[in-house]
Amino acid sequence: MPITSLLDPDTAARNMAEIEPQYSPQEALVEAHRCLFCFDAPCIKACPTGIDIPGFIKKIASHNLTGSARTILSSNILGGSCARVCPTSVLCEGACVMLDRDEKPIKIGRLQRYATDHVFDNDLQVLHPPEQKSGKRVALIGGGPASLGCAAELALLGHDAVIFERKPEAGGLNTYGIAYYKLTPEMSLKEVELVKRLGVEIRTGVDVGTDITVAELEKEFDAIFLGVGLGHTYRLDIPGEDLPEVFEALAFIEDLHVNPLHEVAVGKRVAVIGCGNTAIDAVTQAKRLGAEHSVIIYRRGERDMPAYLYEYGLAKRDGAEFIFNAVPVEVLEKDGHVCGLKLARTKVDDNGKLQVIAGSEFELPFDMVIKALGQEKMTDMLKSIVPDVNLTRNGCIERDAATGQTNVPHIFAGGDGANGGSEVVNAVGEGKKAARGIHRLFTNEAIEGPIQWTRMGVVGDKPVGSGLDHPIRVDEHETAFI
Ligand code: SF4
Repeated sequence: MPITSLLDPDTAARNMAEIEPQYSPQEALVEAHRCLFCFDAPCIKACPTGIDIPGFIKKIASHNLTGSARTILSSNILGGSCARVCPTSVLCEGACVMLDRDEKPIKIGRLQRYATDHVFDNDLQVLHPPEQKSGKRVALIGGGPASLGCAAELALLGHDAVIFERKPEAGGLNTYGIAYYKLTPEMSLKEVELVKRLGVEIRTGVDVGTDITVAELEKEFDAIFLGVGLGHTYRLDIPGEDLPEVFEALAFIEDLHVNPLHEVAVGKRVAVIGCGNTAIDAVTQAKRLGAEHSVIIYRRGERDMPAYLYEYGLAKRDGAEFIFNAVPVEVLEKDGHVCGLKLARTKVDDNGKLQVIAGSEFELPFDMVIKALGQEKMTDMLKSIVPDVNLTRNGCIERDAATGQTNVPHIFAGGDGANGGSEVVNAVGEGKKAARGIHRLFTNEAIEGPIQWTRMGVVGDKPVGSGLDHPIRVDEHETAFI
């Protein structure tokens, strides 16, 4: 049977509501006052974008929400979405010294969300690029987190940045590919707007390689940033894989971001193949869309799954089921539609290699199959648009990890296409590093550490602090030293 949508609009909206509601002012104050405001804070070192975490928490504790948001956004322009989707338990919160005291870590993610929501809820503009421009122009290919992070940093350093995005909206996975109940597309687009307000131009619906070539970009721009992501999900290569109810996980998640929630089709018995964080998003989304059974099938054991424990807990809490040590060998068909999966049991042999156990096949009924096996690299596309740029053996863009510079001096890279697939915050951090690498190419000047508003700001036209080679303006009603 073909699959259909299962929920009425109200139930769909309720099921997809954000899982972590915003802190109340009282809750935020209590949590902020728990922070020890550590010197040489380990939480800062654990953040790929180097946010001054005790600094922004201190500002929440002193009722300076705008200053707090500025501290966050000047280090990480996507601080609002990262507050929602970062695996904080293995990054900043996992490094919090409170854990050494056998206490709960400071809820850094939720405090970060509280401060950044203040900016979006009140439509505040807290970052301003310098009025004096360098005259240098950078083209950024791909409109995801890496390019947004790079473009924002370039704008704050006085360079022009133009993003070329193939899809109708920028934001990449933040807009199209993260579970709806964690991050809505509306929130992602607010951050895209924040980047635009820094003077960054975003040209959507432009496919570099088809609509414009890199050679044409090179004539108009002084440097290029490759912020391309990854491609399709790897194939299962089993019979029945091309049946209409077999989906890629990201396509299933995207469906929810571009269509009304209650119109998204889902099976009553859904199998998700794979056990990474995207698989968890898909299995949970299916359950929240009304699937009676939503089941992860993973070839290895529970201890080996790549999903974070927090994500695993979320899926279990939503009623998702798990079958470990099994692989699909055939998608079963009836009248041209999916009716089940033939699975086989697996075991790890003495050499640590995964083996399918002969004669262990069994069948289970499913009417929808979602593949979440990881994504292919965009090797062919990269070879076609930037043939001179070196790729690694596994098809990623080869670049200097500190500066993002490739073997072609004016071409830089960061994000999933360069790191093979990581977190949003890693992409933003790599974009930011590449912006500084590009700045160095233009000016021969290195920038270390976060751009500090407290040292590099100006109030109105009046400079504050010293060493203002790249002054950034602060709102007149704001104090630069907070
Ligand atoms: Fe606060 Fe924990 Fe960071 Fe220390 S490590 S500054 S307690 S959040």
